[in-house]
Amino acid sequence: MAARKVKGTYDVLPSESHAWHALEEKIRFILGLYNMKEIRTPILEYSEVFHRDSEASDMVTKETYDFDDRSQRKLTLRPEGTAGVIRSYVENKLYASQELEKVYYLGPNFRYERPQKGRYRQFYQFGVEAIGGIDPALDAEMIILSYDFIKRLGLKGVRVRLNTLGDDSSRAAYQKALETHFLPVKDELCADCQRRITKNPLRILDCKVDQDHPAMINAPVTRDYLNAESKAYFETVLEYINAAKISYEISPRLVRGLDYYSHTVFEIEADIEGFGAQNILGGGGRYQKLVKELGGPDLGGIGFAFGMERLLLALEAENIDFWTEPALDAYIIVSSDRLKADAVKILYDLRKADIVSDMNYMNKSFKAQLKHALRLNARYLVILGDDEYERGMVAIKDTKTETQEDVLLQRVERYLIEKMGEQR
Ligand code: AMP
Repeated sequence: MAARKVKGTYDVLPSESHAWHALEEKIRFILGLYNMKEIRTPILEYSEVFHRDSEASDMVTKETYDFDDRSQRKLTLRPEGTAGVIRSYVENKLYASQELEKVYYLGPNFRYERPQKGRYRQFYQFGVEAIGGIDPALDAEMIILSYDFIKRLGLKGVRVRLNTLGDDSSRAAYQKALETHFLPVKDELCADCQRRITKNPLRILDCKVDQDHPAMINAPVTRDYLNAESKAYFETVLEYINAAKISYEISPRLVRGLDYYSHTVFEIEADIEGFGAQNILGGGGRYQKLVKELGGPDLGGIGFAFGMERLLLALEAENIDFWTEPALDAYIIVSSDRLKADAVKILYDLRKADIVSDMNYMNKSFKAQLKHALRLNARYLVILGDDEYERGMVAIKDTKTETQEDVLLQRVERYLIEKMGEQR
């Protein structure tokens, strides 16, 4: 039986990985500008990190990969980044050394969802968390960073949408209002939403199935349930974002599904054809209870995450690429096997000099080696021919200018360094 990849997963092929590298490099660079450091937490966590009593979101209740290990420990493949980062923050007592910890993460997550374009069972996210404080300037920074990030990628058809859920009491009042609003039409909603009415009514607003139901369209908005403090907090967030002059939209029914959010929530939405329901590139929000729930002190945080596959799809849809496939500087061709030892030595020397180089390992004919070199787009061909070799020389051909010179065997590396220096 031919082995096949797991449903909902995909391979990044050698010809595709440079786009990932370039995106990752950009992410690390930009996050560095915001004084964030990377944190790497395990992909595996004890299930309780995600399956907390309070957490009733769909993702946590039915989309995780849960299993027992050989010692019957309950483990979960992480479905998102935040809970593991907070677990680590608490376990390593990072709050003791730093008042505010600003970190980012990048890696695979796992969710048992129905796979489609832009939705996978293993997918990559990068995300950031600023843990330890509550300050509207920090909420503003997260939104500014998201905006800055998509601008720097060059994405145009992308919007930042934001809203506030307010503090606990505002949020509870809003939740109650949603429950009252949706109960009379319960039977007309999808099975998931029927369950959500009492468990997590906020999540109904995220439902794609019921999105056109009249009750959805005239559902209560958070703004009407904010207490004075929460209102003031949000106004300050807006004042700071406005100071930075970024563009955004306020979406009065944006709530985001996870139970732990309070105050500011936001999403980055792409207006890209063919994206359908997969048009949310990223999102995040403030969480005030999560650190305590995972056994830490009563500290708040705020964070967001972007899906990397969707970012790459969005870049592709807008014809943006800020990467070039790595080029081969030099390719060594030998006219007979007895010259191979010299070829191996030259290759090692070139690589020590940071020259990207290769040779043929398949015992191909001279002609076939030449063809291979051209297919690989090598700039210089270093040709070890029997005749030249007798004179202690090799021929070096510049495939771009179509010129060729004989060079002393010992001078190959110097010659290429000089030539490549002239090109730069
Ligand atoms: P979430 O953690 O659900 O708020 O998702 C944040 C971002 O991660 C989304 O906006 C997507 O870009 C990405 N994402 C979430 N789930 C998936 C998935 N199953 N496949 C691909 N990307 C995903």
